[in-house]
Amino acid sequence: MSPLEVFRCNACGTTLFPARYFCPSCGGAQFTALAATRGTVVAATAVLHRVGAQASGDLHLASVATDLGPTVIARLDTAIAAGATVALEVDETQRILAHPL
Ligand SMILES: [Zn+2]
Repeated sequence: MSPLEVFRCNACGTTLFPARYFCPSCGGAQFTALAATRGTVVAATAVLHRVGAQASGDLHLASVATDLGPTVIARLDTAIAAGATVALEVDETQRILAHPL
């Protein structure tokens, strides 16, 4: 696992995820990568009965507002309620994972 990185514009401080070539706020092109380790669940949903899934069970997805600003879509092992605080990380296939805290 590795940390989820978001990108802060060096010129105006806007944080982005995913990375872009230019800052949408000021047009700046230089960014600093920051680790977004925690966030708050904004909304959650479950994708039921996945076709072709290797493991049985449902896929839980949540939009998570990271502490650094950008909102990301993360996978969860279990259902989780909006408002919950989660830890964030990225797996070896670049999927964003969230774990309840
Ligand atoms: Zn900017």
